[in-house]
Amino acid sequence: MLLDLIIGRDANSQQLRISSADGKINKAVGAAGSVPMNVSRKHAQLTVNDDGSCTIRNLNAANITRVAGQPIVIKQISIGDLVDLGESRYTLNWDFIRPLIPKTVDITPLKQVWEKYHHEKLSLQIAAGKFNALRSATGLITMIAIVCGFLWHDSPIYFVLYGLAIAISLGFTIAAYRKSASAPIKQDELDRNFKREYVCPNPECRHFLGFQDYEILIQNSACPYCKAKFKK
Ligand SMILES: [Zn+2]
Repeated sequence: MLLDLIIGRDANSQQLRISSADGKINKAVGAAGSVPMNVSRKHAQLTVNDDGSCTIRNLNAANITRVAGQPIVIKQISIGDLVDLGESRYTLNWDFIRPLIPKTVDITPLKQVWEKYHHEKLSLQIAAGKFNALRSATGLITMIAIVCGFLWHDSPIYFVLYGLAIAISLGFTIAAYRKSASAPIKQDELDRNFKREYVCPNPECRHFLGFQDYEILIQNSACPYCKAKFKK
């Protein structure tokens, strides 16, 4: 079901009142006083089904609802059909109904966007972990070299170890400089791309849906910004 509307007479203005059960739709149609008293407040229910077809149901046995002149209880109706509510006659107008149907958007492609982001973020974290381990190892080598220097300061082994420690420390310092310069940029770029891609598929919305797991996102029934329903 795409849309479910209650149609009846507004008790105050005597206009046609079209409303949805959740209160999101509440429209008065026609001029004040235009709907006769034999149209009740909840006269008929108009349902737009998932396949786009429309069904009208008479809501009360005391009401009269006719389609093409024939009294009905429930009947599928087509665009342009004449519908009588009591003594009031209407035509099913798709241009009026269509804007009332909440948009449905397919969010399944966002699963891949989330997984890619999550995977790349983990890779960056693993790289940072490896880098920290390397830094610890370099510190240890330098310390060993210094201790060895104290023990064997006359031996050539001291120069070899000390030279090696300096080379490693120097290599690490250069790597650290490059890394510290590029790591935040990579993370920033990753976040920026993600924000651009992890958005509501409704072209009129395209709002970023937040740094939340896809499995949590699909627990929502609709986009919180444009209210388009999620087709899962
Ligand atoms: Zn949206």
